[in-house]
Amino acid sequence: MEVPEFMRVMTLESAKQPLVYKTVPVPRPSAQEVLIKIIACGVCRTDLHIVDGELTEPKLPLIPGHEITGIVVKSGSEVRELKEGDTVGVPWLGYTCGKCHYCINGHENLCENAKFTGYTIDGGYAEYAVAHQHYCFPLDPQYANPSGAPLLCAGLIGYRSYGKISGEANRIGLYGFGGAAHILTQVAVAQGKEIYAFTSPGDTAAQRLAKKLGAIWAGDSTHPSPVRLDAAIIFAPVGNLVPKALTDTDKGGAVICGGIHMSDIPGFPYRMLWEERMITSVANLTRRDGEEFLKLAPEIPVHTETKLYKLEQANEALGDLRNGRINGAAVLSIA
Ligand SMILES: [Zn+2]
Ligand SMILES: [Zn+2]
Repeated sequence: MEVPEFMRVMTLESAKQPLVYKTVPVPRPSAQEVLIKIIACGVCRTDLHIVDGELTEPKLPLIPGHEITGIVVKSGSEVRELKEGDTVGVPWLGYTCGKCHYCINGHENLCENAKFTGYTIDGGYAEYAVAHQHYCFPLDPQYANPSGAPLLCAGLIGYRSYGKISGEANRIGLYGFGGAAHILTQVAVAQGKEIYAFTSPGDTAAQRLAKKLGAIWAGDSTHPSPVRLDAAIIFAPVGNLVPKALTDTDKGGAVICGGIHMSDIPGFPYRMLWEERMITSVANLTRRDGEEFLKLAPEIPVHTETKLYKLEQANEALGDLRNGRINGAAVLSIA
């Protein structure tokens, strides 16, 4: 396929500064990489943590974005399973070493030498990106458009968080109802679970969306849960929600923190944790999570609620995400 010499991108030049719109050479794929013409790239809260300097080790300058859908337009000399014209998704996990203790034991999400798309390698706020052949997922054609982008992180992280909950758990609380929660609700409801959606106080748009997607109850996160929950997943980056979710959770229940960054968790009395309640976090993803979830999503089928922006509007999209002005997920529609 015809590939131009230059492409438009949004780059982070230094933390706490707006992204810069510019033109750079289209990258060349190395032997193990494919070059992808980007259809769309989701805007994730993690991007906001990177831009705001809360995640402190980005490559600079950096092209952010780790929820990429696109089409393979060129392959490196050692690429075997992908070919030109294939529709692929590129997630946050961009590379693992395969050799460290974590990789060998099936926990590649914790790899000591991992690289991350849109953080330590360039991502999808661009017209083209390169990605390692073994870290792209084939994508169902129904998601070869902006609606597919949020599956690549919001969908995957929600799914990994959901996997931490015991199969018997039936009443599940979701705290923070954005990209991840609106996808996970569809999966959980299809599997017969009861979803209780806790949103920022007064966010009636998110509460309406939760109910539309099948949540049994939706309300302010300051409100006590109407039932004792079997498990809770916190997607909002708000440490205060940890003791709140523990209070809402029944004996033996788990509270799962689904974000990469959270404000400090305040102290709380031990009796709130007592009776075998658990707190855990979810870090990154494994390729197995991706394969499982991207097979499941079209079967349900998962539909995403998106607010679309042009590439050059990435700063606006980040600002809207920061200020809670997005119902569902923000996506840069690029091609
Ligand atoms: Zn490793
Ligand atoms: Zn993300």
